[in-house]
Amino acid sequence: MKAYDTVIGLEVHAQLLTRTKIFCGCSTKAGLSPNTNTCPVCTGMPGVLPVLNRKVVDFGIMLGLATGCRIASRCIFARKNYFYPDLPKGYQITQYEHPLCEGGEILIETGQGIKRIGITRIHMEEDAGKTIHDEKAPSSYVDYNRSGVPLLEIVSEPDITSTDEAVAYLRELRQILMYLGVCDGNMEEGSLRCDANVSVKPAGSSRYGTRTELKNMNSFRNVQRALQYEIERHIEIRESGGEVVQETLLWDPSRGVTVSMRSKEESHDYRYFPEPDLVPLEIDAAWIDGVRSGLPELPFARRKRFIGQYGLPAYDAGVLTQTKTVADYYEECVRLLDRPKEISNWIMTEVMRVLNEQGIAITGLNVSPEMLTGLIALIDRGSISGSMAKEVFAEMAATGDSAGSIVEKRGIGQISDEAELRSLAREIIDAYPDEAGRYRSGKAGLLGFFVGKLMKATRGEANPKLASRIIKELLEG
Ligand code: ADP
Ligand code: MG
Ligand code: ZN
Repeated sequence: MKAYDTVIGLEVHAQLLTRTKIFCGCSTKAGLSPNTNTCPVCTGMPGVLPVLNRKVVDFGIMLGLATGCRIASRCIFARKNYFYPDLPKGYQITQYEHPLCEGGEILIETGQGIKRIGITRIHMEEDAGKTIHDEKAPSSYVDYNRSGVPLLEIVSEPDITSTDEAVAYLRELRQILMYLGVCDGNMEEGSLRCDANVSVKPAGSSRYGTRTELKNMNSFRNVQRALQYEIERHIEIRESGGEVVQETLLWDPSRGVTVSMRSKEESHDYRYFPEPDLVPLEIDAAWIDGVRSGLPELPFARRKRFIGQYGLPAYDAGVLTQTKTVADYYEECVRLLDRPKEISNWIMTEVMRVLNEQGIAITGLNVSPEMLTGLIALIDRGSISGSMAKEVFAEMAATGDSAGSIVEKRGIGQISDEAELRSLAREIIDAYPDEAGRYRSGKAGLLGFFVGKLMKATRGEANPKLASRIIKELLEG
């Protein structure tokens, strides 16, 4: 079999977290009863006029700046014409020739280092409604609540050359959108949707192969599986002397196959033309500067800073900056207690475990940064052992009580009473005369044996540093 190169370009739709729709004042809230968030504008009644929601432009500029795009000083909307019951006007208002943003990039980490994936364009458009086909119902239904909800469409260059890179790109883009607060990033619920264009070509060839477009992948795993399946399908067709047909396919996650949906439409099929009901959008430098000054630090930069400033391994930095709220929590902890690596360990294990178990975000955690650093300080002071601290943490997370009060209530402070430990240590040494003798004749490693016995005798509650010092004194004294 010949070797092939894979070429992938992604078109991602991000539903924006504006309060109202893009061209009317209807709420964008999801989950309400059908057709309650609607008005004459978003149901396409004759004679109504759209009015652009300024917030949508703000969000688009934010994402454009975050991905290094040029922001258009003047852009226009266009009508994309097609007929389907979820599109009451018979056309979708989108952008075609003059999009809001062009020429950006997203950096991803790959096995071979950092790679740049070009962003062709980002444009604003309205979402369509939802058709509901229920086999048991007598009819099909349509719900226009989603009709007119604002979207950004982010189109990548065909720079992606593997399924892993596709997922890395999508993760990075999702993270940026969530850091900016413009999209909730929920793929299962469809607030982030990914269409993938894929083709293969003989290794090294500069001519692209015929591509197919994949839809209906509502998780990272499905994006990966669908692309993998499709790449193999393309190669098989070519190997058997056939030709790939340019078409749009649906991913069927239960069968693990792609299914032809329609032959690929060409853009001229849509009869795009400038939207006459909306004036051209003028964006001046002051508007762009205003948005720029409000941008948060972005995931890629924050990861780098975490490595440099706190001396964290890249892995830790990646986990901690996954979401902005966790990164903020981490930095608040470090501000309170200068133990960056310990705090990282706590968050990556105990904190994340509780978040998973309780199914909550860190903002809903019972344990504030003050409380977590208070707990770590108790370990530092030798008041409790590391393993006890984990139990205390679990109780803090369940009850919201502070470490100090739990330790006190449960009486699980470490035994730091020297006299008590000394008398226990003496008993242990007397019980193991052979080991004591071997220690004294030079087997220093046996210190751990005695410390272990003492820890066991106190059910782990002895202060280990103190225990070790006492045993050493007794054995050597
Ligand atoms: P359309 O208007 O049909 O959606 P575009 O030219 O906008 O087509 O391209 C859509 C996506 O397809 C882009 O992300 C682009 O990078 C990608 N793409 C273009 N050509 C190829 C190809 N030969 N193989 C894989 N992806 C491609
Ligand atoms: Mg397309
Ligand atoms: Zn409306």
